[in-house]
Formats: sequence, structure tokens, C-alpha cells
Amino acid sequence: MPFSLAERVGGVRYAIREFVPLARELERKGHRVIYLNIGDPLKYDFDTPRPVKEALYEAVVRGYNFYSASEGDGELREAIAERERRVSGADITADDVVVTQGVSEAINFVMAVSLDPGDEVLLPGPSYPLYPVIARIYGGKPVFYRCLEEEGWSPDVDDVRRKVSERTKALVIINPNNPTGALYSERALREMLDVAAEHKLLVVSDEIYDQIVYEGVRVSVASLAKDVPAVILNGFSKVYLMTGWRLGYLYVVDEAGEVGEALTRALVNMARTRLCASTPVQRAAIAALRVAEEHLPGMLEKLRERRDYVWKRLSEIPGMEAVLPRGAFYIFPRIPKGDWGSDREFTLRLLTEERVLVVHGSGFGQFGEGHVRMVFLPPIEVLEEALDRVERFVKRHAG
Ligand code: PLP
Repeated sequence: MPFSLAERVGGVRYAIREFVPLARELERKGHRVIYLNIGDPLKYDFDTPRPVKEALYEAVVRGYNFYSASEGDGELREAIAERERRVSGADITADDVVVTQGVSEAINFVMAVSLDPGDEVLLPGPSYPLYPVIARIYGGKPVFYRCLEEEGWSPDVDDVRRKVSERTKALVIINPNNPTGALYSERALREMLDVAAEHKLLVVSDEIYDQIVYEGVRVSVASLAKDVPAVILNGFSKVYLMTGWRLGYLYVVDEAGEVGEALTRALVNMARTRLCASTPVQRAAIAALRVAEEHLPGMLEKLRERRDYVWKRLSEIPGMEAVLPRGAFYIFPRIPKGDWGSDREFTLRLLTEERVLVVHGSGFGQFGEGHVRMVFLPPIEVLEEALDRVERFVKRHAG
């Protein structure tokens, strides 16, 4: 049979990087592009804490260069369990933890063990795009529940309930949220968990931004899930400034004990298919958990100042108001009425005319339309230049 691509790749898209080739092309022609598309603090003036870098060197020199256990280095799993007890109120031990190559891989594992073709997974709308992409690869069907902009992008629990069907397997929660920056209240989380419990769904809680919170109290699903099984996903990319190191983890909480053990076993089996995460990086991550949280207050202070600046500038551009993000480092303004037909066209023209790269809201699935996502990671002077350009662009075309 002549070679042809598998049908499933037709649906593989990742909006966050879609226009990067065009941006690079503009740079080759001598233009200065301001990138506000990727949630990577290390592309700006943030760096991996020094003790973590030193621990990596030491791990390599001391011979931690072999394959680790597939579920992860034992000492790291201990340190992760300790962190999750402290930060998230999770009642877990090292045995519950599976170390992954980023939360990206954890998403892949969870979808792989949960979805048969035709099964549905409830995702926040708008959603981090990897969720629908990976769900589709396994033949699953993403179903988006609405998050309400007028309520700070909090999930519409009635919509969640309406969208549960006989094929629904799992309910994904991302808190703090990408792309909206929303921080969910304990009440909203409890209501979501109640829906999941009622329909015996698996809760998947992505908590990668857990310590990047500017105001309000973050509550972990790990501390709330009593009568429903949950998988918590977390990682080192954002809070510990280790994006390129590719390290994350997951763990199952299941107090009722109905599916937890089988689920963990299946997840470990998935982990075995790729042998292990990088062993020296895992050793360095122990240092991140033990000593490196000292960078957090300074990091949050910088980010808060940048958030406030971007929010204020956007609120001065008619039609571009945004909900003030309470966590993560994204802001999700509306786009004003103008001579662009869609948020995608707005993004493309903003890039070609003013050399600012943002991400079109429709790239985050249903309910993202009519918005764009920007990161507020760069220093103020870069943000100022970017927002001057956005303002000029909108003034030229809006109305
Ligand atoms: N989950 C969310 C909500 C994210 O925003 C990201 C990255 O932006 C990821 C997962 C992927 O993170 P990692 O670098 O751990 O693969």
C-alpha cells in the first residue's frame, strides 16, 4: 500500500506557534518582532534558579546518567509528595507520584488511559490547546464548557452539567487558567466536583500555575476531591522556571478507592513506554523543590507590575478591555470591532503590520473567539512598545 499519513494528524494544530514561521520570516527581512505568544518566562528576563543549575551539573558529574525508574527517581517522588502535601493539601506519598516529561506528557498519558474512540472529555472553553489536540489523537471528542467572562472567566457549572452525556469520561479543570488568567473559587471547584461525582467522571486538574497567584486564595482539587477520583497534573516549567528542562508529574487521588489503583497502574504502564524522564534533570528538580522557592516572591512582584501595566494599557484602548488576571501570566482581552473578519485575521494583520505576535482566541477552542491572548512576561519597556503598536493598529482599523 502506498504510504499515506494517518488520518488523525489532520486535526493536529497548535495555535500558539502557528504564526511563528511568519514572524521569523519578518525578522529575516530586518523587522523587530515582539513575541507575546508563548508562555515561556525564560525567553524574557527570568532564569532558572542557580541552585537548580548547579544540581544538574553535580548530578551529571556524580553519575546520574542512567535510566531511572519509569515512574521517576525515588528521592524526587518523595520531594514532590512533600511539596504537594504542603502546597496543595494532598494526602499522598511518593508511591502515588509519576514523574513525566512536562505536563504535556502527563496530558498525553491521562488521555491515553481514559479515552476510547468516541468518548467525550469536558474541557474549559477557552482551553489550553493541547487538551483538545491530544484528546482527538486518541479518537476522543472534546466538548467545551463555557467560562463566563463577565464572572472573571469562572466556569459556568450549569453548562458543565448540560454537557455531560453518556459518553463523557472526564472533566478537565485548569486553575489558575491558561489562557484567561482566572483563579477559580473554592465554591466553583466544589460545584464542578459535585457534577463529576454525580456522573462518575474522572476529574483532571491542571495546576501548573499553582504558585503564580496575584490575589485570592488558590485551592487545589487534591484537597477537595473526596468522593470522586482525580488526577492532578503539575510541573516545573512555570513556577520553577524550568520550561526547557521538560519535567512534570501527576498523581491520582481517590479516597473512595474505586478506580485509583488501576488508574495509577495504567499511568505507570504508559510511563514505561518511554523508559523514563531525564535522570539528571530529575535530580536537579529535587534541588528546585528543596531550596529554590526563594525566587518566587521576586518573580511574583515583577509579574504583578507587568500585569497591572498591560491591563491598564488595554483598558485605555476602546473595545480591548480584559478581565484582570488573578493567576498565571496571560491576559485575554476582547478585540474591538474593526475591518478584520475574525480574531485570527486580527492576529495575522497585527503581526504583518505592527510586528506584534499574539495568539488568536479561537485557537483556544470554543468560547475563545473574539479575543486574543497575550503574555505579560516581558519587561515594562518591551510591553510599552508592544502596546503602543497594538493601540496604533486598533486606532487605524477599528470602528
Ligand atoms: N498545561 C498548561 C495549562 C499550560 O499552560 C502548559 C504550558 O504552557 C502546559 C500544561 C505544558 O507545560 P509543560 O512545559 O510542563 O509541558
